[in-house]
Amino acid sequence: MKFRKSIATIIAALALTSSFTIGSSNIQAAKKKKANVVNTELAQDSQGPWVYPFAKLAKNGVNPMYNAQIFGKTDYARSLKPLSYFHDGWDFGWGEVGRSTVKAVHEGTVEKVAYGNGLGWFVWVISPDNYVQIYQEGFNKKKDISVKPGQTVKAGQKIGKLTGSHLHLGITKTNKNYINKNGYPCNNWYVDNGTWLNPIKVIQSNLNK
Ligand SMILES: [Zn+2]
Repeated sequence: MKFRKSIATIIAALALTSSFTIGSSNIQAAKKKKANVVNTELAQDSQGPWVYPFAKLAKNGVNPMYNAQIFGKTDYARSLKPLSYFHDGWDFGWGEVGRSTVKAVHEGTVEKVAYGNGLGWFVWVISPDNYVQIYQEGFNKKKDISVKPGQTVKAGQKIGKLTGSHLHLGITKTNKNYINKNGYPCNNWYVDNGTWLNPIKVIQSNLNK
């Protein structure tokens, strides 16, 4: 989210400044350190098939360049009030996946294509097995999105092209409290309360079935 990103940037800058002052922690090195992808126990209730959102991931695996890109607790402050390091999705940076086609990770119906504060242009898909996918922050313009509300998509179908710095993929289920009071699919974005699932776990447990 834009708001989150700018806060994170400020925090990183402050942290960097203070590290110079006190001459201690090496924030830059920590940021550059490759995040480990947790190879997962299977997500119990997910159903296949699922695919990665980018062709390069199917070939090379998932190799995020920053810890901040992974799901869950990161070394980036996402929210200041309350202070939270929780990341509610997975970020695929263009340095890893290229400015390339974004594919639907699971079948479903496009609920909405819209612009949201912090989400940018986003695609919201609801699947028949009650999974929900939000593709956000990756599309600079509406024309970078190639699907329309009401349209059904299959796993692997093109939904757009990555033109932003990264695609944030969020996964939840329809019975979770994921819609905020303004109707946007980003409720509980800074709360690790089970609303948001680890996209890589869900995808990897149902790949190629
Ligand atoms: Zn993100």
